[in-house]
Amino acid sequence: MSNPKSTNRDAIIVGAGLSGITALYELRKLGLNCIILEKGSNIGGVWHWNCYPGARMDSGVPSYELPMPECQQDWSWSSNYPEYAEIQRYFDHCDKKLGIKKHVCFGMTVTGARFETSTKNWAVECNDGRLLKSKYFIVAIGLTSVGVRITHPDIGLFEGQIYQPSTWPKDGVDPTGKHVTVIGTGCTGVQIVQEWADKAKSMAVFQRTPNTAIPMGIRPLNETDNTTLRAKHEVLMDKRKQTVSGLADKEPIPRKIWEDSFDVRQATFNNLFEQGGLHFWLSSYSNLMLDWNANREAYDFWAKKTRARIADPKKRDILAPVEPKHPFGGKRPALEQSYYEKFNLESVDVVDVNINPIDTFTRNGIITKDKALHPADIIVSATGFISPEKIVRTLDIQGIGGTRLADLWDQEINTYLGIMCHGFPNMFILDGPQSPGEMSNIPTSIEIQGEWLSKTVEIIERRQMDPVHPSLSAMQEWRDIVETVGRNSPAIKAKSRYMVFNKTRAEAEPVFYGGGIPAYRKQLEQTFVEWEKAFETSGNARAAVSV
Ligand code: NAP
Repeated sequence: MSNPKSTNRDAIIVGAGLSGITALYELRKLGLNCIILEKGSNIGGVWHWNCYPGARMDSGVPSYELPMPECQQDWSWSSNYPEYAEIQRYFDHCDKKLGIKKHVCFGMTVTGARFETSTKNWAVECNDGRLLKSKYFIVAIGLTSVGVRITHPDIGLFEGQIYQPSTWPKDGVDPTGKHVTVIGTGCTGVQIVQEWADKAKSMAVFQRTPNTAIPMGIRPLNETDNTTLRAKHEVLMDKRKQTVSGLADKEPIPRKIWEDSFDVRQATFNNLFEQGGLHFWLSSYSNLMLDWNANREAYDFWAKKTRARIADPKKRDILAPVEPKHPFGGKRPALEQSYYEKFNLESVDVVDVNINPIDTFTRNGIITKDKALHPADIIVSATGFISPEKIVRTLDIQGIGGTRLADLWDQEINTYLGIMCHGFPNMFILDGPQSPGEMSNIPTSIEIQGEWLSKTVEIIERRQMDPVHPSLSAMQEWRDIVETVGRNSPAIKAKSRYMVFNKTRAEAEPVFYGGGIPAYRKQLEQTFVEWEKAFETSGNARAAVSV
């Protein structure tokens, strides 16, 4: 473990998840002295915390992993969608190969950071009062590090246990013989329902928006599969950077839906559906996410397949309505194994909270508006996370002249490439708002951001430049791009994690860049063509360098 008391560092990285590890790897290659400050007790970020029942990777092997070839050596996955415990072992394996943990100070919560104009350093404050200084400040705290818990004026009346997936007890919770309520049907809720429905005495699932969950297509991987994966690792890692989604094995069909007859379209949908995983969404017709009629046809296909799995007509209409609540893919579809069949158990029910919201809590359950009592010993609040920009705002970050990032972003998010901000020199946010984030395979977007970070820092070091920050015009240009792309996305028609409220304009706007990985890479490359247009130095002098 790194000793935070020792001298200043070249770079302080907050968070030891995928993005923090990537930053550490890239900056160490440049010879920088780095430390990661991590509030948890192990590396892995979301995979350190996520130990709720059924938690597993839902993007799939081989795309959801670190790209470093060392990490793939001697590593075998047991299935194409491994569970959290296996992913935690994978991170320990990566540590053995890359030597990550010796640079991490665990149990250290960063509360704020201030740019000191006099020293041109960042002063980073920790919850135990320690102050560390560095030239580079890397925010790598992820998109899902702060959960949202269900609130209600009467919740205090409930005498059972309330659990939140993101802070699940490490030694587990046993639902056997218990009445369980799960609130929320995002990817997390779906995984928990699936895992616990058979075990609980009864289960009530409180749904606000139906999930358009797709069969996962989970299968074991044997040693031959793993040998092939290891042999193809470099090719696959390269391939994932060339696909729109960032997933090596998922690419849209290079034709529009209307070029095929109805029968061919149905056969195509069926083939994608049967393959399992995100193929039905991401390997479909090229206009699926742009043409509303095409999107509706995909929804109708999904609804027909799904409704056939749910016996009770009332539950069927709640879980897989004939009329879509939002465009298919406007919210992230979960991957499931037996989610819908679980509702065929008499002990498992679904409550549409739009019709029957929670009225009150009792000592041992929840009463809905229709006066029904839903008995509960355990309530699981699978109600998601605060939005990505709010997560960054949990740190008190002050740039030039003491300007607070939280104040700026309270009105409107502005970044350059989703990575840097005007007035916050040498501060880099990985996997943050206005990056591809959840609109891509996250490890892929982190990888290309890491490459960009490395190239940018290498230039700053080589030219011995003052700290740099993006110009206001570069940020404006990026905001325009994110918005223009977002306007064409079905996400705009769904109330989801993909959207955020802009107070300045009093309207919702996309929080992620939805243009896909290859287009994002092109934008990142443009920095090195137009460096002087992109950046200013903290001393206000233009960065007059040729790169
Ligand atoms: P989420 O997608 O934000 O889902 C939260 C759910 O809670 C939604 O169904 C939401 O309904 C519901 N909800 C919120 N407040 C509610 C209330 N007051 N009453 C009833 N329902 C309420 O959160 P998540 O499922 O935790 O997923 C977060 C992100 O993590 C996603 O991007 C997901 O893909 C990712 N994830 C990944 C994995 C993995 O294995 N790799 C696993 C889990 C999650 P509305 O839809 O109406 O808002």
